[in-house]
Amino acid sequence: MTMNQQGLTRRTFFKGAGLGAAALAATGLVAGCAPQAAAPADSAEALAGTGSAAGWRTAPEPIADDAIAEVLECDVAVLGLSYAGASAARAAAEAGATVVCMEQQAEGARTFVGQGNFGHINSEFLKSRGVPAVDELEFFNNWQLRSGNRSNAALVRRYCRELGSAFDWYIDGLTEDEKATLTVQFFPTDPSYTVEKNRIQTWPGCVGTAEYQDKLIAGMVQTAVANGGTALWETTVQQLVQDESGAVVGAIGQRADGSYVKVSASKGVIVCLGDFSANAEMCNDLLTQVTSLIPEDGAIVGMGQTGAGVQVCYWAGARLDPYQATMGGDYYYPCDAPTDPLGSSSPLWLNADGKRYCNEGFGCVELAAMQGATQPQGTFCAIFDDDVETLLKAQGAWHMGMDWPNTGFEALRASMAAAVANGAAGSLGEGGDAGSSTEGGEAVDKATLAGANIFAADSYETLGTYLGYEGEALENFVASIERYNELCEAGVDDDFGKESSLMFPIKTPPFYGYAGEKELGIMLVNGAGVLIDEHGQVLGEDYRPISGLFAVGNTAGSRFGAQYSTPVAGSSVAFAITQGRFTGDYVASL
Ligand SMILES: Cc1cc2nc3c(=O)[nH]c(=O)nc-3n(C[C@H](O)[C@H](O)[C@H](O)COP(=O)(O)OP(=O)(O)OC[C@H]3O[C@@H](n4cnc5c(N)ncnc54)[C@H](O)[C@@H]3O)c2cc1C
Repeated sequence: MTMNQQGLTRRTFFKGAGLGAAALAATGLVAGCAPQAAAPADSAEALAGTGSAAGWRTAPEPIADDAIAEVLECDVAVLGLSYAGASAARAAAEAGATVVCMEQQAEGARTFVGQGNFGHINSEFLKSRGVPAVDELEFFNNWQLRSGNRSNAALVRRYCRELGSAFDWYIDGLTEDEKATLTVQFFPTDPSYTVEKNRIQTWPGCVGTAEYQDKLIAGMVQTAVANGGTALWETTVQQLVQDESGAVVGAIGQRADGSYVKVSASKGVIVCLGDFSANAEMCNDLLTQVTSLIPEDGAIVGMGQTGAGVQVCYWAGARLDPYQATMGGDYYYPCDAPTDPLGSSSPLWLNADGKRYCNEGFGCVELAAMQGATQPQGTFCAIFDDDVETLLKAQGAWHMGMDWPNTGFEALRASMAAAVANGAAGSLGEGGDAGSSTEGGEAVDKATLAGANIFAADSYETLGTYLGYEGEALENFVASIERYNELCEAGVDDDFGKESSLMFPIKTPPFYGYAGEKELGIMLVNGAGVLIDEHGQVLGEDYRPISGLFAVGNTAGSRFGAQYSTPVAGSSVAFAITQGRFTGDYVASL
């Protein structure tokens, strides 16, 4: 089968991240977890041990005392100052501890990995917006179900309890006018919306904070400094310091001028240095769930950090999380781009042979799309009809969702209209990926269109041809749509068990479709760091806490199981901030 369209895949998105981010911002379509800016990915080389022949697992020689230019004393050392670190530093300071922080970036020139979408339940903020309260235990059990019960239950239970108040705490640095500009994604839901999708639940409660995250994170660091702490900017963490018993008692960083600074911490060191998705050596070593799906010469690509946090913890004796949670990389669904036009809804999915292969609404995009990983290599497509609003209103309020209550359907409708006008060229027009398109003869800026090239036709066969199907695959394509329509009308998906509230026949012309070539190995970040307990204390070889060592955010594992799949979108930032708060508070209390 040949392809005659160019969808915006994760890979092309990563190659042209600027264009993708701009298009995304312009459409406002994809919410929950959308790109803003990549963090610097050049600190791996600066880390002793990284990239050496012995590999990242070999601890470097300890930096000698006589090489240290400066020593600082504190109660709590916090390494890394993003969501996790800034929260831990603030909480520790609020609990009365003196805090010294190290961050490799310059104070006035920060970038953040994520877009700050903070998914949560039961905050005063959500209450003030009329979002219904959620049963905490139901939420907790749902989390454990999604992780296959691989998350640390005590840790996640505590997280569920403190999640709502952590959000209120996080935004308390905003003025009332600023708070008024925050939106609750996917809310208000349509009356037809069901919380439970195929026995797995999902709740609205994700709030976009991107506009204010610079201010909020700077404010949290400022709290630590105002309470007698110090923030060492442009200081790259190199090693932890351990005493004879193995307890972690400090950390050593390298300043921009090459000199070393040592921080001695009497209560503990909290490592918040993010993930290792930008370190190919570590990805290949640790993410075997992904590497076993991609070709031998295939690459694993991520947008996170270079692994310093996991490295220093591992060298100090930490156990690695065996469950390898990534945010992508091991699943595929049609398009699979941060700008998927249909968000996280469940249209009909067909594989390269034109066959339906799974329940498209199983739990959420990440879980449903696991089935795609082992389908034949080639083109996958999503098919829907003109009643796209009904399809999207049933979408789960989870990761990659389309925030239609706040953005409306106009951008998607513009794409669909362009698809109708452009026929075989699709919504993006001739060339398919840049410039402008035509909609009824008028030029349309492609940046306002949803990411994939959408095709439209009045017959299934023509649509299949536009999407690139031919021969037997085209016959299967038509038969699969007809079969899907029969199942929708019967009200029972006898083929794959998709629940009837997510089954919409492809009956109202024009019919639409978009496609993408299966790609694996591309993730946003990974969240499988080192094992921790419910306080955030890092576990050693014997599964007992290592004295003095804590991890928060993506340096920590024990949170997501085998894949990032959570009951509310934006749970990665939410975990970093909520756990940062309770871990900082705990360490200060020691
Ligand atoms: C494009 C994109 C969009 C996303 N959007 C969302 C979203 O909206 N909501 C959500 O929940 N999740 C989102 N995520 C995931 C989320 O951004 C991360 O999971 C989150 O940033 C983790 O926070 P963290 O504080 O643990 O680590 P990070 O945010 O990665 O921060 C680590 C910090 O440590 C510093 N650092 C690293 N190494 C060193 C070193 N050696 N020395 C000193 N400092 C160092 C870094 O500079 C950084 O400040 C997104 C991810 C991507 C890639």
